[in-house]
Amino acid sequence: MRITAPRSHILPALSMLFIAVAAVAVVSGFTSATIARSLVVFLISLTAISAMGLYSGNSGILSFGHLAFMAVGAYASSLLTLPANIKGATLPGLPDWLADTTLGFWPATLAAIFVTIALAMLIGLAIWRLEGSAATIATLALLIIMHGVLIGWRDVTRGAQTFFGVPRETGIWTAAIGCLVALVVARLYRDSVSGLRLRGGRENAIAATAVGVNVPRERFIAFVISAALMALSGALLAHFLGAFSPKKFYFTDTFFLLAMLIVGGMSTVTGAIMGATVVTLVTELLRRLETGIDLGFMAIPQVFGTTQIGIGLLILVALVKRPDGLSGLLEWEERFIPLRRKGVKTVPLIAAQSEPVIAQNLTKRFGGVVATNDVTITIKPGEILGLIGPNGSGKTTLVNQLSGILRPSEGRISMGAHDLVKLPPHRFADVGLARTFQNIRLFETLSVFQNVHVAALSTKGGIDADARTMSALNLMDVAHHADAQANTLSYGDQRRVEIARALVCQPSLIFLDEPAAGMNREETDDLMERLRGLNRDLGIGILLIDHDLALVNALCDRIVVLNEGRLIAEGTPDEVRQNKAVIEAYIGTSNHS
Ligand code: ADP
Ligand code: MG
Repeated sequence: MRITAPRSHILPALSMLFIAVAAVAVVSGFTSATIARSLVVFLISLTAISAMGLYSGNSGILSFGHLAFMAVGAYASSLLTLPANIKGATLPGLPDWLADTTLGFWPATLAAIFVTIALAMLIGLAIWRLEGSAATIATLALLIIMHGVLIGWRDVTRGAQTFFGVPRETGIWTAAIGCLVALVVARLYRDSVSGLRLRGGRENAIAATAVGVNVPRERFIAFVISAALMALSGALLAHFLGAFSPKKFYFTDTFFLLAMLIVGGMSTVTGAIMGATVVTLVTELLRRLETGIDLGFMAIPQVFGTTQIGIGLLILVALVKRPDGLSGLLEWEERFIPLRRKGVKTVPLIAAQSEPVIAQNLTKRFGGVVATNDVTITIKPGEILGLIGPNGSGKTTLVNQLSGILRPSEGRISMGAHDLVKLPPHRFADVGLARTFQNIRLFETLSVFQNVHVAALSTKGGIDADARTMSALNLMDVAHHADAQANTLSYGDQRRVEIARALVCQPSLIFLDEPAAGMNREETDDLMERLRGLNRDLGIGILLIDHDLALVNALCDRIVVLNEGRLIAEGTPDEVRQNKAVIEAYIGTSNHS
């Protein structure tokens, strides 16, 4: 697994996880049996929420369904460790091969993890294209279906009855080992190539796709890994409790684990630890209250439901006061250990081999609106082509089709041997077509470096990704912002970062949709000078949308003009300037901003 974060962050992070978990295990040796049990439960919960955070935190999709995988881990591992005599007595309907198998805890857990992985792959394939709340609801359905299966499959699960006789193998050190595995995997995944891509997709799926990220695929990978870790937590829990029933893996426990995730902050492992700690402490406290306490001078009576109500309130407070959780979006070491980016080399960013992009008869309809109407254009390799037209004339829609963001309703687009209408959107960057967006689409909470790095890692096989990233940042003069969070930059700098992110893909043609919007005169001039340089020195072709006609005239070799979705003129700046239809379109519409 390739790790994208520097060693100076990852090593302290992993060491701290090791120390924290070992400390819990050691402390547990000096406490009462009750507290020792609570600490085991704490470690198992932490295992589970590291797993949930790995998926939900990095993808941005909240999951209600992960306890289904915990259940599979619990039941599958228990079926394998349950002594034969107990199986004979409690599960007479088991198939012979299962009735006769008795494994140790770790082999059984491993087997349960494999079963869960297979199941998660099946489910993942079914839901991997779903986004946002649709995906969340699908996970809720998963939880309910799994509950139904556990209750219905009596021969194997004893149905709603208690499944018992499971050897109590999970002591504090077993839990500690399991928990450490989950924490380390979650931490490494977050900064793996897949994890960084997925976080890019979380921040802006369209932009991530445009720089070569196959977002559904990364979601799928995270889903399967997190399911595997959920199974581990399930096996630990089953062999701690010794007896359980399907309701252990249903709403109540989902609620408590989600509380930990939300309170701590689901996008970091630091957050998982903070959430597990706070919610465990509060729960223990409230549970004491629930049974009633005698304060000497007055007795607080028993109040049922105190714990649930208390945790519910805690979630509410967290959502209002700290929507990203106690830890925020950064791991502790990202906050406290300064990055040193010494020694990152640069490489010349040579444009990809290019062929003309030929678009024929592109028509795109949105309901009744024909946004582009039978547009035919050719973009020659290495040219600077201006695309102008009044507001709403279809410029952005045309570029969206040329860059794979939108499929044309009719028409063809080709580039050499590539049929661009059939090419999956995340493949455009690698065939040499990169872009920026009219409304800036950065990965807002990632650093400037990471914004560009994601693109470097997802194009050209990820080769020289660090050096290419530095080179692109230098080209656009934003390297001094490398470690700033992207959304803290000025508009002008954000636009430059967006262009750097496109350049790092080493495109042969770059689409710039109003790149100077929000820039002052000086910034605009600087940008145009840079664009000219990119074209001259690197041979990158540019399609530029802008409203500033003087600027477009000065920079472009050729200009095409759209009006009401139709191509009305095409030619050199001089030809277009004198074109009657163009003059009419511009004079005729008072608003061409
Ligand atoms: P321009 O970039 O030239 O200002 P657009 O391509 O954004 O123009 O828009 C062209 C037309 O298509 C407009 O009438 C706009 O309202 C419509 N349009 C653009 N995108 C969408 C969409 N996603 N859904 C519906 N209508 C759209
Ligand atoms: Mg537009």
